[in-house]
Amino acid sequence: MAESYCKSYYAATANPVPPFPKLQESIDVDVAIVGGGFTGISTAVELAERGVRVAVLEANRIAWGASSRNGGQITGSLSGDRAMERQFARKLGRDAADFVWNLRWRGHEIIRRRVEKYAIRCDLKFGHMQAAYQPSHVAELEDMYRAACAHGMESEVEFLRGPAVRDLVGTDIYHAGLVNRRNMHVHSLNLCLGEAEAARGLGAQIFEDTKVEGIRHGRRPELVTAAGRVRADKILIAGNALHRLAPMRLAGMLFPASLGIVTTEPLSADVARAINPQDLAIYDTRFVLDYYRLTADRRLLFGSGTNYSGRETADIAEVLRPAIVKTFPQLADMRIAFAWQGQDGISINRIPQLGRVAPNVLYAQGYSGHGVATSHVVGEIMARAMTGDTGDFDVFADVRHWRLPIGRFLGNQALAIGMWYFQQREKLR
Ligand SMILES: Cc1cc2nc3c(=O)[nH]c(=O)nc-3n(C[C@H](O)[C@H](O)[C@H](O)COP(=O)(O)OP(=O)(O)OC[C@H]3O[C@@H](n4cnc5c(N)ncnc54)[C@H](O)[C@@H]3O)c2cc1C
Repeated sequence: MAESYCKSYYAATANPVPPFPKLQESIDVDVAIVGGGFTGISTAVELAERGVRVAVLEANRIAWGASSRNGGQITGSLSGDRAMERQFARKLGRDAADFVWNLRWRGHEIIRRRVEKYAIRCDLKFGHMQAAYQPSHVAELEDMYRAACAHGMESEVEFLRGPAVRDLVGTDIYHAGLVNRRNMHVHSLNLCLGEAEAARGLGAQIFEDTKVEGIRHGRRPELVTAAGRVRADKILIAGNALHRLAPMRLAGMLFPASLGIVTTEPLSADVARAINPQDLAIYDTRFVLDYYRLTADRRLLFGSGTNYSGRETADIAEVLRPAIVKTFPQLADMRIAFAWQGQDGISINRIPQLGRVAPNVLYAQGYSGHGVATSHVVGEIMARAMTGDTGDFDVFADVRHWRLPIGRFLGNQALAIGMWYFQQREKLR
């Protein structure tokens, strides 16, 4: 039985969409996709636009996983960017840095165009600020500002110090800010639902309440579910942290981390203007960071911390409240209206994992907390790979990933220790 959406702000304000059926028969398509989050749905849109017959099988509801639970920040800050440059250099040589730079922004372009093309109502807005949490982080932000200018983004970025930061965010805790007007924020569930509707309109078959129990490999592989099957030329596994398919190839590669988010009750126009007058999405410079923005109905949507143990935190609202009050003491008495958690797949080197478990069975996963834009780039890369252009896919597939030969529980403990180490090291930054 499918699980319904968690009680989040996104679920409470989701656009009504006609239901997607449960698979109850055997069907035949060109490409079958496991998982109806951003990766699966975005790939389906790309394929359907190319005239490919595609089916998406989602165990729960469309975007049920991380895609309906995230901060909605569409950011050019890629997870694992430095590691990517190093590893991609094996295939791309000096072009690796440009490849990674373009990767940062390609997802933005895909989302912007898609929202426009299919008239998706998802509160898409432009503007981010990354804020220096420590004086020692200021130089790093300034370097990022210079890099953006060197890539021709002068008109889209602005570097602010001291009091000028206070004009854009109503708190005194930051030392500098890098404003980026190319970055965006969005109601992520409505984006994914809108994309699923677009894919359906283009002929894609989308099924909810349809858990894939196994993959039968062969010349034309099959996805096996309790009540039906899908035979295809190619299969994409896009189940992120939540699937257990192809364990011989994928076990020990990806570990679920729990992230929590809360929203307040709607703020008055005056309070909203005082804390975030330009309606920016804001995040700080720490390894495990605070990130927040205003929703369309003027709630503060605030995320912070990551639980790498693989388990959910007992009371996420109580855990996040001190971070909110530290940032905005004026919200100390504000009621938390929604609190929820989600799991994202963390890869140890933080590079997204794209590859094959068989010649005609591919996978894409592991955006390590930075998946809204990345999943859309990956959707394009996977659709190209499945229609014959494997250039960018091969760059990712060539990456050497760590694989821990231990179960998920022990893997998560190892990850938690590793991340603790990085957080301690950060205190010296
Ligand atoms: C709390 C939180 C905050 C975040 N904030 C941000 C942010 O602000 N910006 C950003 O860029 N990224 C953010 N992320 C990360 C981002 O949301 C994810 O990286 C991205 O949504 C991953 O998309 P996906 O489609 O790969 O996976 P998911 O959205 O997790 O989708 C996987 C889907 O596969 C389905 N599935 C699994 N197994 C099976 C099976 N056997 N059969 C059928 N279906 C199956 C699941 O039910 C699920 O719906 C955040 C993540 C979380 C959890």
